[in-house]
Amino acid sequence: MDTGTHHLQELLTRTHTGVRPSKPHSSSETYSRESLLLRLNGRSSFRTSISPEESKFLHEWNGTFPTETYGAYLLSWHRALVASGTPVSFIDNSSLLYDSVEIQGKRLQCIALKGALHYEERNRLIKKRAPYRFERPIDFYDSRLQKSCPLCQHVAEAQDSQLLNKKASGSVILSLGDHVLLPNRFPTLPGASLFLSTSHDDMSSRVKLSEKISAKELIIPAEGKTRSRIIDRRDFVKLFALCDALSCVAMRNHVLEGQSIPTHDHFHVFPSEIIPESFVLSIIGSESKLPLFEAKGTPFSTLCVTGSTPDEIASIATSILQRMEEQNEVYTLAYAYRHLFISSRWSKKIGSMPVRIGCGLPLHYFDPSNRYFLALILKYCPLAGEYRWGRFLT
Ligand SMILES: [Zn+2]
Repeated sequence: MDTGTHHLQELLTRTHTGVRPSKPHSSSETYSRESLLLRLNGRSSFRTSISPEESKFLHEWNGTFPTETYGAYLLSWHRALVASGTPVSFIDNSSLLYDSVEIQGKRLQCIALKGALHYEERNRLIKKRAPYRFERPIDFYDSRLQKSCPLCQHVAEAQDSQLLNKKASGSVILSLGDHVLLPNRFPTLPGASLFLSTSHDDMSSRVKLSEKISAKELIIPAEGKTRSRIIDRRDFVKLFALCDALSCVAMRNHVLEGQSIPTHDHFHVFPSEIIPESFVLSIIGSESKLPLFEAKGTPFSTLCVTGSTPDEIASIATSILQRMEEQNEVYTLAYAYRHLFISSRWSKKIGSMPVRIGCGLPLHYFDPSNRYFLALILKYCPLAGEYRWGRFLT
C-alpha cells in the first residue's frame, strides 16, 4: 500500500471514530451527516482496503473536492459507478473553469464545465447501453417499476442484486427508504449522482408529452393533469437534508426544459464545491431576512426560498411549485447552501417543444462561450424583475 493510500485510510477512519449508528429510519436523524457517513462507510472494506486506483482518483480530485469533506462520498460514488459498469475514465477530461460573459451590458461571472461529453454524445451512449434484464416478474419488485425506463432498470438491478446477493448491489450509493442515491452512469464530474424515488412516476395525473413532442402548439393539459410531476414535500425534505449533510448541491430540470428521462423524476446531485458558497452568495446578492425573495446578484429572474430547516424550505417551495405546475409554467430548480433557487422560463414561448438550457442557470453554472446556448437563454429566460412571481405566492 502506498503512503497516499495509507493517509486516505487514516483520514476516513479518523472522520468516523467514535460515531455510532443512530436510531434507524426516522426522518431528520437518519439524514444527519454522521449517520449518512456511517452508512457510506457501512461496508468494512471502505476503511480497510482502498485500491491504488481509488487512491489515485481521490488524490487527483483532492484540489477540487477535498478528501476531508468528500472522501467517503467520492469513494462510495467511485465504487458504485464501477459496479454499475461505467469506467471512472469517463470523466478524465472534465474540469471546472471560471469564465465570464456580458449580458445586458453587465459582466456576468460563470462556472463552466469543460471537457465533459456533449449532450448528444452522452445520449448516444445512453441509447447504446444494453437494457437491464429484470430477473423477476415486474410485480415482484419492492417498488413500482417500468421495464423500459433506464432509472427503473438501475433500481431493479440493485433490488435483484440485494436479493440474490450479487456484487452489483454496490451500484447504489445510498438507499434512503423509498428514495435512492445512484451514481449518474454517464457522469460529467466526480460525485455526479441522481436522487430519485425507487418507483416510476405515477403518470395518471400527467400529460404524456412524448406522444406530442413534435407538436408546435401549446399543450394545455386536461383538468387535473400537469406536464411535470408535482414535487412532494417529503421528497424535498429528504433531498435537502441529504445535501446539507453531505455538502452537496442538487439541480432538477423540467420535462420541457432539459429533462432527459421525463417520466421518472430525478435530481442531479454534485459535491457543492462545483459552485463555492461565496459564489452562490454573490448571486443571492444582499442577504435577505425573508424566507422568500428574488435574487439580486443575477440578471436572471430567480426566486430564492430559504429557511433554517429542510422542512421550512420544503413547505414554502412545494406550494409555489404546485401552483406553477398547475398553471403550465416551465422552471428549473437548484438547491445550494440552504437556498432553493427557482429559475423561471417564458413558458408560452416553449409551448410543447422542450428546450435544453438546463438547471445550472440560476447558479451561473454554464459555459458562456457557447453562443447557441446564450441565444437560448436570451430568448427563453426572463430577466430579473420581468417575471410575475406574485401569481404563485398566495
Ligand atoms: Zn422509471
